Amino acid sequence: METKNNKFIQHLFSYQKQLTQEVAVGNIKIGGNNPVCIQSMTSTNTLKTEETIGQSLRIIKAGGELVRITAQGIREAENLENIKAGIHQAGFFTPLSADIHFNPKAAFTAAKIVEKVRINPGNFVDKRANFTKTEFTEEEYKTGVKNIEKQLVPLLKICKQHQTALRIGVNHGSLSDRMMSSYGDTPEGMVESAMEFLRICVQHNFKNIIISLKSSNTRVMVQANRLMIARMEMEGMNFPLHLGVTEAGEGEDGRIKSAVGIGTLLADGIGDTIRVSLTEPPENEVPVAKKMADYFTERINHPPIEPVFPVPIDFYDYKKYDTQAVVDIGGNNPAVVISGAESKTDRKPEYIYLGHKLVGKTLDTQYNYIIDERAWEQQEFDPRHVFPLYSSANNYLLSDKKSETLNFVSVSNKNINPDYLNKISNRKDVVMILETKHINGFADQRAAFFKLMNAGCRVPVIIKRTYTENTLEDLQLKSAGDLGGLFLDGMGDGIWIENKGEISCQDIINSAFGILQASRVRISKTEYISCPGCGRTLFDLQKTTKVIRERTSHLKNLKIGIMGCIVNGPGEMADADYGYVGAGPGKITLYKNKKVIKKNIPEEHAVDELIRLIKDCGDWI
Ligand code: SF4
Repeated sequence: METKNNKFIQHLFSYQKQLTQEVAVGNIKIGGNNPVCIQSMTSTNTLKTEETIGQSLRIIKAGGELVRITAQGIREAENLENIKAGIHQAGFFTPLSADIHFNPKAAFTAAKIVEKVRINPGNFVDKRANFTKTEFTEEEYKTGVKNIEKQLVPLLKICKQHQTALRIGVNHGSLSDRMMSSYGDTPEGMVESAMEFLRICVQHNFKNIIISLKSSNTRVMVQANRLMIARMEMEGMNFPLHLGVTEAGEGEDGRIKSAVGIGTLLADGIGDTIRVSLTEPPENEVPVAKKMADYFTERINHPPIEPVFPVPIDFYDYKKYDTQAVVDIGGNNPAVVISGAESKTDRKPEYIYLGHKLVGKTLDTQYNYIIDERAWEQQEFDPRHVFPLYSSANNYLLSDKKSETLNFVSVSNKNINPDYLNKISNRKDVVMILETKHINGFADQRAAFFKLMNAGCRVPVIIKRTYTENTLEDLQLKSAGDLGGLFLDGMGDGIWIENKGEISCQDIINSAFGILQASRVRISKTEYISCPGCGRTLFDLQKTTKVIRERTSHLKNLKIGIMGCIVNGPGEMADADYGYVGAGPGKITLYKNKKVIKKNIPEEHAVDELIRLIKDCGDWI
């Protein structure tokens, strides 16, 4: 059974790679049955041939299967010839992709040299929105499309002659005035922006195309890709998808945010090539992307999960699953965090699970504690701060010593049936802990939520996952990929990550908060939207990001954009509250939302000026 809501995917309850058309990019193939292709992008100046060759080789040796290089002008595009020759001389024939913005002529040059050219519909012909024109007549709109055709068709001819592939790469932050006036800053606008180009390509019989729709907002990125698939299907197209979250940042934040966005789609078998954008040396992106791709493909041919219909959610429009509030969980409360230990930082979980270990422990009353049912039955505890966890609904129902306010009850998808729902659905003192041991835990837990939603059950649900990881990166990528997608679709009132390997409780707590933040359901620290850097970058991004972080990390509710150049930065930092953007060599321009506040500040004073701006605007704490 198929509903309008899940047009984007053929298999909601079993992992299968979503099949797309195969596209040749030099000596590799992307899409079809091919494994997910891992790519990265150089951050060197493209005119510095040796540096760019060196960095490309580091990406390739780390396992990168495609290397993207910025080509902002004709000179850079021409220099791709030398870079390509240097890479070949070193014995590597990895395909190269030229990244083009604002300059169709650079695309014409690059398309004769490299195996793939990326153009951005937001600035290939139309310019990124500057809101000077907000209304377009139908005639003006059609003229806009004709202008695209004029520039695009010559590029298609060159691509055909040279067997060059084309990426139509839409960025959420750089939609044109024409798109913004018709669709606003939405996934629909991103999809239509790509579709205009695709229709022209198909009309001119050019099909060597890959699509991307990226955003630094994971929810927008996921919805846009789903909508793209549905829209392509309606128009008889099936081009491969390149996935990425823009400006994801560095370290833990960058990994978790990328895994939430990219992982949510990979978990549904969507995505033919991925790039994880980190504000780190680009070769660091490759193993992270590889781990992510492998994690999801490992679940192929998994044991069946019984499908649940009808599909009770809209995959293109976020809506929180409506549950009732039980103490501070569910209803309008922010998603809670449960952990196995207290926190040493100010990101404090609301509930600490102690198993049987409460006896003799001095309670820290800033927390609440969860203990197993046997310990609960044996002793008296402070009922305001200690709550029982029952291993089944029956044990909870049979207990004559339940908490009057809050009882946790473990459940898994396979236990949720009409009998279970009869027993639990109308309880006002229960919070479910939804667990899974299924290798496709994401689909298993989604099926469980669908059953609860279809039955109208309003009992809050904590999503719990248990891992056995020994490195923090592995835990972050897996848990963010498994849990993020559920939160992005409005499911879950809290998170509980348990790990049986060698990772500290504090790191697990931080990861749980990080997943909630990246899924946009709970903000608990300053969000940095920092670009990964490329040949246009005008300052040391990593050093500057570190300094800005050190001075502003206590400003919990702010989003700060740190962008390497003024060409794409202001658009790509999208919904940042403040922006620190490279305006020229040694010069920084500061933004408040999308508005320029201070122009061309010498770099050495720019961080101080940013702090002053935040203070002047009353956002400093
Ligand atoms: S914002 Fe500018 S410097 Fe940063 S990655 Fe984008 S184009 Fe490159």
